[in-house]
Amino acid sequence: MNTTQPLQLLAPLSGVLMPLDSVPDPVFSSRVVGDGICIDPTSQTLCAPLSGVIGTLQDSAHAVSVTADNGVQVLMHIGLDTVNLAGKGFTSRVTMGQRVEAGQPLIDFDADYIALHARSLLTLMLVVSGEPFSLLGDGASCIESGAPLLRVCPAEQRPVDEAQQGSVVFSKPLIVPNESGLHARPAAVFAQAAKGFDANIQLHKQQAGANAKSLVAIMALQTAKGDSVQISAAGPQAGQAIEALEHLLLSGCGETVQAPLTPAPTVTDEPSVPGRLRGVCASPGSAFGEVVQVASQVLEIEEAGGGIEVEQAALDQGLKQAMQALKALQNEAEGSVQAQIFRAHQELLEDPTLLEQAQALITEGKSAAFAWRTATEASAALFQQLGSALLAERAADLADVGQRVLKLILGVQDNAWNLPERSILVAEQLTPSQTASLDTSRIAGFVTVGGGATSHVAILARALGLPSLCGVAHPVLALDNGTRVLLDADNGELHVNPDQALVEQLQATRERQRQRHQRDLEQSAQAARTLDGHRVEVSANVGSLRDVEQAMSLGGEGVGLLRSELLYLDRAHPPGHDEQAALYGAVARTLGPERNLVVRTLDVGGDKPLAYVPMAHEANPFLGMRGIRLCLERPQLLREQFRAILACSGLARLHIMLPMVTQLAELRLARQMLDEEVRHLGLEQAPKLGIMIEVPAAALMADLFAPEVDFFSIGTNDLTQYTLAMDRDHPQLASQADSLHPSVLRLIARTVEAARAHGKWVGVCGALASEPLAVPVLLGLGVDELSVSVPLIPAIKACVREWNLSECRTLAQQALGQESAEQVRDLLGIHSSTATPATLAMEH
Ligand code: PEP
Ligand code: MG
Repeated sequence: MNTTQPLQLLAPLSGVLMPLDSVPDPVFSSRVVGDGICIDPTSQTLCAPLSGVIGTLQDSAHAVSVTADNGVQVLMHIGLDTVNLAGKGFTSRVTMGQRVEAGQPLIDFDADYIALHARSLLTLMLVVSGEPFSLLGDGASCIESGAPLLRVCPAEQRPVDEAQQGSVVFSKPLIVPNESGLHARPAAVFAQAAKGFDANIQLHKQQAGANAKSLVAIMALQTAKGDSVQISAAGPQAGQAIEALEHLLLSGCGETVQAPLTPAPTVTDEPSVPGRLRGVCASPGSAFGEVVQVASQVLEIEEAGGGIEVEQAALDQGLKQAMQALKALQNEAEGSVQAQIFRAHQELLEDPTLLEQAQALITEGKSAAFAWRTATEASAALFQQLGSALLAERAADLADVGQRVLKLILGVQDNAWNLPERSILVAEQLTPSQTASLDTSRIAGFVTVGGGATSHVAILARALGLPSLCGVAHPVLALDNGTRVLLDADNGELHVNPDQALVEQLQATRERQRQRHQRDLEQSAQAARTLDGHRVEVSANVGSLRDVEQAMSLGGEGVGLLRSELLYLDRAHPPGHDEQAALYGAVARTLGPERNLVVRTLDVGGDKPLAYVPMAHEANPFLGMRGIRLCLERPQLLREQFRAILACSGLARLHIMLPMVTQLAELRLARQMLDEEVRHLGLEQAPKLGIMIEVPAAALMADLFAPEVDFFSIGTNDLTQYTLAMDRDHPQLASQADSLHPSVLRLIARTVEAARAHGKWVGVCGALASEPLAVPVLLGLGVDELSVSVPLIPAIKACVREWNLSECRTLAQQALGQESAEQVRDLLGIHSSTATPATLAMEH
């Protein structure tokens, strides 16, 4: 490609052209950000002025940049001071990393709203990579969107003289003080200052690094207030650069900031983070220990290869070794959730698109490492663009696998984490495979900035019994390694350098919990009966045979939810009849003919896509083709699953459960198919058929569903997200998306009432059933079965034994009348400690 070919930029908007000098904002008129043109817009959609990749897209969608293949970077900034609108009035139509064509719509904006709420609507188009340009057209002051506007003449790239670089100097960790992070204005000031030093300067945020002389690269880091960043520099003026830029960053890069946040503490300094940070409990428990910050390694990668054959061989070797390592890890963890993750990673290694992309780059003369990294990053960016939380998680998996192979190609050893006894890991985010590999003998718990309480990482943490918090504020990343912290996941708190008294208090609580756990374990084989003799079935939520075996050893009375989709995910073809039947059969045999086995049919869809079920992109996958809706669209998939489930008839008390049912017609169609399959197989007895109550419509119509089902099982995770209109994985909403909200409890009450009237049983298989605090309410509402996370079986059974059903009924009625989830929690908290003196007495 000729990188110096002149490039034409189209007008991104219709409007009146103005020179930059007349923009009433010195950051733009002085050209600190870059030279370009200003448009006073008359249209309301910002379009791409050139083809390329979206290099920056502020969360607030008021600024976006496009980088052409030849390196020309063009930044568009809609309005002045619009960062303060925090996204209001803007709707972005693209995502970071997406490839766009010239003229493609990028951002819609509401001109009236912006004109009223921001300083100005004047929109800038700036060539921030610094190439010279000339104005096209006839000199008219009005321009139509899409008309040719500027002609840019890219310059030859000057290679960096690596030999001159010298060693790299790092600043201390610095906390970004700017209210809106390093958005265009402060980023421009910072980049401008960095350009003044003869040094190669990078700005780092966690794993990501950016050329500090590039405005776009800095903006692409998407820093937020409170983020911890670090500056590195190499070259003759490295030391001076670090000193000056540290100061500049902490003073707000030209923006007024509150008293500069002090940098991260050293062991002897006072901590710059508050003494107590709040988060959301991802896995219960508490631990006292030392901080170990987890950041992934930055790998040095040469772009140019040493010959096609050599590089191809290096890639093949890296892939082979990664495959072997993943297989070994999978075998070690056989039957567990961890094993499924390692298997999924092997599938990624064999992904043909990924391999083709990497090979094509090697053929172009790139190194194996460069080719592999580019291919994995491109696919990860694609996953992220699709706007689904689950695909974004797959992007994390891809990054994870990508890094594994890269290290093997480069011969880089994994950063051995220096783990003291009782380490508390702190990370922006842990990947599922990192979590699955944690050494629980040295790690006492972990804390992450991202993630939700229902994410894979949280599920794994609970399976490992590690207390953990997610959604903790960014300053946690500035804690020094070795800082003493008290992780109180039960109360959603992380105490930094806690008082000895607090530590002792929590340790005493832990000791009581340990004793209690011991007692619960000893009694786990006994039935769960209330003090006044009411029996409740406590069964298990499982995803694998190993879970079932563990559940049995912990006193599980059956399987209330077999999440069959785990068999279907992360593979190129659906599991065949025999593979499915083998799992259901093994589970059923483990349970035996006296215990319930509730197999949930495939619950996938927009949010958990299957490679072999192509689906159109959905704007709201949680409201799209999920669960039974997808299965009825692909009846063959459901029929095959019915057949495989029916193959274990007689081995356990077989129940089939349909997820996401919303309409009676869905239940009727599925029942008809099941009946046909039962007849086809000549079975004498059909299994029980029930539905999950996880859509408010089904709860509200439970009286009409009840006569046609054998049972209901309430999926409080989805029921809560749909009732409260809060994404179950949303980190900021995690504390509000509470299943104890009275609205959710009212839907449960209604469901139980309808089931009772028709003599059907009701279980709860959502995470609410695994919360000891919720047990009396669920019993009081009349729930017959609690299907819980495997490790919590003994605790939930013990909890049932502490209550009188009559007390539970009173409490449940009171809970239904509360105004908020907090009030319900307060009510239950009071009663849990006062109404169960017998328990406390036993603990002391
Ligand atoms: C639920 O929604 O509560 C449930 C148990 O299903 P899942 O968490 O698998 O969506
Ligand atoms: Mg669900």
